[in-house]
Amino acid sequence: MTTPKDVIRGDVLAMTSYPVPDATGFVKLDAMENPYELPDALARQLGEHLAGVALNRYPAPRPAALIDKLKRVMGVPAGCAVLLGNGSDEIISMIAVACAKPGAKLLAPVPAFVMYQMSAKFAQIEFVGVPHRADLTLDTEAMLAAIAEHRPAVVYLAYPNNPTGTLYPEEDVERIIAAAGQSLVVIDEAYQPFAQKSWLPRVLEFGNVVVMRTVSKLGLAGIRLGYLAGSPVWLDELDKVRPPYNVNVLTQAAAEFMLDHIDDVLEVQAADLRAERTRLADAVAALQGTTVFPSAGNFLLVRVPDADAVFETLLAARILVKNVSKIHPLLANCLRLTVGTPDENAQMLAALKLVLK
Ligand code: PMP
Repeated sequence: MTTPKDVIRGDVLAMTSYPVPDATGFVKLDAMENPYELPDALARQLGEHLAGVALNRYPAPRPAALIDKLKRVMGVPAGCAVLLGNGSDEIISMIAVACAKPGAKLLAPVPAFVMYQMSAKFAQIEFVGVPHRADLTLDTEAMLAAIAEHRPAVVYLAYPNNPTGTLYPEEDVERIIAAAGQSLVVIDEAYQPFAQKSWLPRVLEFGNVVVMRTVSKLGLAGIRLGYLAGSPVWLDELDKVRPPYNVNVLTQAAAEFMLDHIDDVLEVQAADLRAERTRLADAVAALQGTTVFPSAGNFLLVRVPDADAVFETLLAARILVKNVSKIHPLLANCLRLTVGTPDENAQMLAALKLVLK
């Protein structure tokens, strides 16, 4: 009788599944979710809208009405194509699969969002991580040198970056795009609602750039919808590795409904969170021994004297944050704190004060 060892790739056998801790009963500040639920009346309307969705048919593979509305509401320039994913995670996987020629490489500044490296591993292509500087800013010269040396198929730039929160200077991004003329440059704007800066208006200006977005951080993480915008020259090719019915009917219907409420609900919540980010950053920076890195996301990267001890203290207070201190040497003693509601942030601050005077 065969066993997984006989069949499954050795590198897969050696992997561990993506860890997602059980947050039941915790103040959940570990995954950059928007902490606000929909207003009751709107949630009821959404429920009525979803009740009308036929579940017996497969979803439209390229839902034209949803894509048109998304383009309009999100300001996708004319001439761009849009590809939808089951979260931007799925788009990241699709890009790696589509670009996995023998010897191909995928390059990103590190520490970075883990899915870039994971997608490379899944597709069996080499991942090249270019360390940030010690202050977690972009080492542009090192990026340019690495691009010249490795000639990667794909370059990821998260704008702003997770887990550092860094928003790279525009001129550095331009230099990287120019130097990566042989590569597809993916600008990942998952945190655009909090950075309020975007490359989307300029995406067609360069021949080698696509912009990736998600509705997750805007308050819709549960529906799993990411999108990639760029020239059809690129997107038509990437679309070939998209699983045919990857965005389900409930997600499509919920997204179409919610796109009418970006300005009056979700962007208002994002504005609240931006203000709260500033307040939280100031309060954490005032605690003994902390360094708060500048963040354009809905989270703060914070260095503390002993990350494990602080993490455990927060856990004991039923507050879940992300301990990123072992992920990369540049993140030694760092925690990533998602910005929550004022009440959640107050609870987190009170717990932090138990260990950081
Ligand atoms: N890009 C970045 C930089 C992220 O931090 C995340 C989620 N943490 C994603 C993409 C994935 O988002 P989604 O929920 O759309 O899969």
